[in-house]
Amino acid sequence: MPNLRLPRAHCDRDDLPSICAKCGREETTLVSRTFTWCPSWVFIFIIFGGLLPLLIVYFIARKRMRVNVPLCDEHAGGWKRAALFGWTSVLGCVALLIVGLTVADQVGPIVAMVGGVGFVVCLIALAVWNMFLIRPTKITKEDITLAGVCQEFADEAKELRSRYDDDDDRRDAYGDYDDDRPQRRTTRTRDRYEDEYEDNRRDRD
Ligand SMILES: [Zn+2]
Repeated sequence: MPNLRLPRAHCDRDDLPSICAKCGREETTLVSRTFTWCPSWVFIFIIFGGLLPLLIVYFIARKRMRVNVPLCDEHAGGWKRAALFGWTSVLGCVALLIVGLTVADQVGPIVAMVGGVGFVVCLIALAVWNMFLIRPTKITKEDITLAGVCQEFADEAKELRSRYDDDDDRRDAYGDYDDDRPQRRTTRTRDRYEDEYEDNRRDRD
């Protein structure tokens, strides 16, 4: 699956293809997702002093960007399903670990071991699951790079971007863009823009 770089202005204005980012079928919903990313050098801090310095540097260095991701019904719940599995399985394993450590009889150590091993297995399963979800590989002030999108979505997003880059009015609008308030796309506004674009193109031809 390709990596796709999306300018922040396009994400803020929901100028994204109207197909599912995961499978390329028709978009049925926009899922608002705030992606978080931090550079990998941050994790060096766990060597210098442990978890607390790591957390402090993580919260300073992390970058966030909200994207309304076009998805079909089948893929709209992907992040929720992963989060539900993560929380229930990890909390379940921690509960087993605590119960196992507090029970005095012979069953206690076995329960604790099941909880401990289960915890590690769940973390590995979550890491693997995450590789199949749409996720950020880099976020800067100007853009976000997403992995896990389908080829059709990546191609259409690049096509849409090159169209806008060719459009002087649109590019000027983005150049002057300093409004922090996100504007939610309606199908009508995007369709209208695309109609205008087609009209202009026909005029030029
Ligand atoms: Zn889909």
